[in-house]
Amino acid sequence: MNAFYLNLRAQLKSRFIDYLKADSIPYFPPELTVCPHCRAHCSILLDTMWSCPECHEHGDVVDYVMANNGFDSEEKAIRHLCRMLGIKNTYLDYFSADEVMDMQFSEPVFIVDKLISKGLHILAGPSKAGKSWLALWMAHRITLGMPIWNFETHPGEVLYLCLEDPLDRVQRRLVDVTDGSTGRIWIATESEMIGNGFEEQLTGFLREHPNVNFVLIDTLQKIRDMKSEHYSYAGDYKTMTTLKSIADRFGIAIMLIHHTRKAPSSDPFDMVSGTTGLMGCADSTFVMLKENRLAASATLDATGRDIENLHFDLRFSDETMCWEMVGSNLDQQELPKHDYVLKQIRAFMNEKEEWHGTASELVTELKSRDHSLDLTPNVLVRIMNAHTVVLRNFYKVAYRRGQDNRKNNVKIISLRLLKEIIVEPSDSTDKTDMSDICGHIVPIAPIEPPQDA
Ligand SMILES: [Zn+2]
Repeated sequence: MNAFYLNLRAQLKSRFIDYLKADSIPYFPPELTVCPHCRAHCSILLDTMWSCPECHEHGDVVDYVMANNGFDSEEKAIRHLCRMLGIKNTYLDYFSADEVMDMQFSEPVFIVDKLISKGLHILAGPSKAGKSWLALWMAHRITLGMPIWNFETHPGEVLYLCLEDPLDRVQRRLVDVTDGSTGRIWIATESEMIGNGFEEQLTGFLREHPNVNFVLIDTLQKIRDMKSEHYSYAGDYKTMTTLKSIADRFGIAIMLIHHTRKAPSSDPFDMVSGTTGLMGCADSTFVMLKENRLAASATLDATGRDIENLHFDLRFSDETMCWEMVGSNLDQQELPKHDYVLKQIRAFMNEKEEWHGTASELVTELKSRDHSLDLTPNVLVRIMNAHTVVLRNFYKVAYRRGQDNRKNNVKIISLRLLKEIIVEPSDSTDKTDMSDICGHIVPIAPIEPPQDA
């Protein structure tokens, strides 16, 4: 190890506890954690060394990371630690292509399956296109746990920052969108701006309301400092990273309602107002367009890190007072290159529902069903790593590659068939109580989430 890494290693010693917390490793203050070799309780000495009473292994944080992740060099463990703890490393932080293919990234977690993940999202459109209406309808479906078109939602409470409308207009919109039964939507019509108290207001609210999983900010413009020196790529990027870090910290989705430029473009995403710093930092962007203000039909295009490029044709129904989906490109999604292998995994799981074993055992199982299948365990794992999301969303198979059996250095694959969830509309009654007004935050119809029958 060269002097540079030796120096980093010395610095990292004092960050042992920070690492355990950053990697969500069990830590029982002040001095206990789990042994990376045998999983027994082991003690942390002087905050910098661990020592296992069971298997007698010991070392500093770098030894711990090496054992815990199966790294074959101290340099790899040090680079991993620097990445986790945000320590600047003046060496280029590189991987081999083999290492990249062996990684399994954590899957995005969705608030609305395949549509809205935890993170930061933009919904842009010209004024009066109906985007506020659409967003509030989505929020309402989320809080009731009802599907949005074909997409299942994961129920939670909603914070609706309705910063361009007075409460009486919000009230009319709520009645029309919700039909009177709102679930749990919290509303504020005023807030500070980002960099001037907004972050504190939002995090304070989220700490007091841990069941909130969706925050709707209508509009982004209202919380953004518009002084000329801030209205730049760097300013946009800073605004977005601030919001994104709050979304990530609380594990929620934040949706920003935003304007489009006047100038039309063949690519709807070119029409999002502001610099590319906005879209560059968002996890996904939705653009809603109408042919003219009075049209009852609209298009919605979506693109993002965790979603396919989606296109929806929408029509406003006067009967239900919401945007109904009348067409989409959902059926035209391209199948992945290794579709055949994924299909075989799904067929196998139809018989098993749940399965645990090594990659070689899985290859044997698949080959026993199709003798022509030409796969090595290594290649199978790499195909599955690269298509974890497709396996889950399209084939309804949850895949995890665990770190059990570390002694033999064999990783265990866990597969589980996901049951389709049928969401019943709740028949909750309206219990609107406006008496409990505190500050600008008005609780609307605080009813209990629907109980399982
Ligand atoms: Zn041990």
